[in-house]
Amino acid sequence: MKLQRIIFIYGLILFFGTEFSISQVNSDSLISVYTKKIQKYLDKDNKASEVFSFTKTGIEVYSPATDSAQKKFEYGIMWSELDLFRELLSSLDTKTMVKLCRGKSDPFPEAIKTEYAGKSTSSVHPPVPSKKSLSGIRIALDPGHIAGDLEAAKMEKKWVEMKNPPVELIEGELTLATANILKTKLEEQGAKVMLTRTKPGISSFGIDYKKWKDSLFVRAVAGAYERGDIDFEEKNYLLTKANDTEIFRRFFLLEDLRERAKKINEFHPDLTVVIHFNVDETNSNWNKPTKKDYNMCFVGGGFTDDELEKPEDRLEFLRLLLTDDIERSVEFSTYMMESLVEKTGVPAAIDSNAVYLRDNCMDTEVKGVFCRNLTLTRKVNGVICYGESLYQDNINECRALSKKEIKIDGMETSKRVGDVAAAYLEGILNYVKNRKGNR
Ligand SMILES: [Zn+2]
Repeated sequence: MKLQRIIFIYGLILFFGTEFSISQVNSDSLISVYTKKIQKYLDKDNKASEVFSFTKTGIEVYSPATDSAQKKFEYGIMWSELDLFRELLSSLDTKTMVKLCRGKSDPFPEAIKTEYAGKSTSSVHPPVPSKKSLSGIRIALDPGHIAGDLEAAKMEKKWVEMKNPPVELIEGELTLATANILKTKLEEQGAKVMLTRTKPGISSFGIDYKKWKDSLFVRAVAGAYERGDIDFEEKNYLLTKANDTEIFRRFFLLEDLRERAKKINEFHPDLTVVIHFNVDETNSNWNKPTKKDYNMCFVGGGFTDDELEKPEDRLEFLRLLLTDDIERSVEFSTYMMESLVEKTGVPAAIDSNAVYLRDNCMDTEVKGVFCRNLTLTRKVNGVICYGESLYQDNINECRALSKKEIKIDGMETSKRVGDVAAAYLEGILNYVKNRKGNR
């Protein structure tokens, strides 16, 4: 009698337990959650419904309609295999994922489940007992751009040169100096830090543009053509007609960004900080000072009109939709923005401050933090803050930034660059401290 009761109660627990788990994968509630998220963070121009559709069984993905063809079924992901899909997205590169998903209308095969379920490298690394506040934390720093001299900076269109006041700024140098200062401070706190590039003029491939062109260019063009990033005409133009500057601007810069994303993802960081210094976009040629000065940070999302055309784009959209990378990046960037404003004394931007903020970004709930679909915010997995600090061409900033007051890793830079590095350090420390507190 007693045993029967135990079995009965155990049966009840099983029954309700199962009911509970079924309600957790209730397709209606998932559809509602993901529809809201798409509207809030991801779909700037209301185009997502043309390539994604939610059904009782899962998400259907379509290649978009063209002038000559209707939209076409690409693959389906079942609600019941979302966890496995997330694992695959974090374990495999996008090219492999595109191949794996193409034409899929049934669940992933057992072999895939056996190989990948529960196997992905967690972005949360086990805490190492230590007094240092960043022990065990892996941080990727990406110093924006490449140039180490004015000629190269002009080629990548990332320089400020003025006669009055006499100023010469190379963004690629400012970002690298910031990253180097920050790296030293983060390592002092116990963090493991990786820089995507380490020397002025040297790209993320570890070589300069000329060496890249001599060694990797032809193969890279073939790869981009295979992915559908460039068409047959562009491929031929690049290989036969384009001059160095054209190859650099039209092709190499994007390849360099892809390499940065690859390096970062292979490092499996807990946090990624992309470092840029901004300019006033309405100040043509940046040869006279502006009065404007703002700080802003970008996270993933904000896909615009034509940014869902390629299979890779749709997969990256799905990754951002189905993981909490955007939400955690907004949280991280909140701390980064707070310390940027405090340490630099420069306000956070609002969407009316720049045309690209209004036309290419979606507001988040945090002032100065925007969803923007940049190569790195789209391709880097995990928590990212893409910082655009200060306007280099601002009347005060251009003077302050061009001073040579500090020496770091063989480079001379300004105290103002030090302010920005200090702001990022404080943002990282506050975020990590707060997350530990909430654990
Ligand atoms: Zn930049």
